[in-house]
Amino acid sequence: MATERRVRVTLACDECKQRNYNTMKNKSNDPDRLEMKKYCRFCRKHTLHKETK
Ligand SMILES: [Zn+2]
Repeated sequence: MATERRVRVTLACDECKQRNYNTMKNKSNDPDRLEMKKYCRFCRKHTLHKETK
């Protein structure tokens, strides 16, 4: 049986802390906290979004 390493993560804007995105990641590929530039509709610009619990 293959071990399921995909987990759900929430991405929050680093500026306003709004949780804007839900996504899945593979723990084998991304063992560390995800960070990606995404559009924040609260800031109305692209900001850094970080994984939250
Ligand atoms: Zn924001």
